[in-house]
Amino acid sequence: MTDEDFEAWKICWQVNIAFHIPIQQPQTCIVCSQVLEYGKGIRRSVFWLDGTRCSAGHGQAKREELEGAVGLGVCGTCDQTYTLDVVMGKIKCRRAPCRRTVRVHKAEVQRVLNQPRDENPHNEHLLNEHLLM
Ligand SMILES: [Zn+2]
Ligand SMILES: [Zn+2]
Repeated sequence: MTDEDFEAWKICWQVNIAFHIPIQQPQTCIVCSQVLEYGKGIRRSVFWLDGTRCSAGHGQAKREELEGAVGLGVCGTCDQTYTLDVVMGKIKCRRAPCRRTVRVHKAEVQRVLNQPRDENPHNEHLLNEHLLM
């Protein structure tokens, strides 16, 4: 990885961190298809879902795919480069038969990054989770 790539990767990682929420259910990774169970207090990024759209406007999962006993996500390993891969135009829409390039959903990314931490719905989600424990 060149210095320039590393700088880009760092920015992408900061964006990705803002999309982390606590998760409750096991998840199938949309990149490597591994099914992983997560313990309490584990947070995973929803950037792949909330922070992206393909050029036809598709989100990367249908609601019903997220509501089963096993949800969808990006595993810790694939998430190291997922955001950068989106920025570089390497990810294709997973909504068959689309296959358009997945892009950063700029408005949503800006909205999440601009929110004060205590008004961030992802943080509110975290707070609710905390109160339930
Ligand atoms: Zn994976
Ligand atoms: Zn699409």
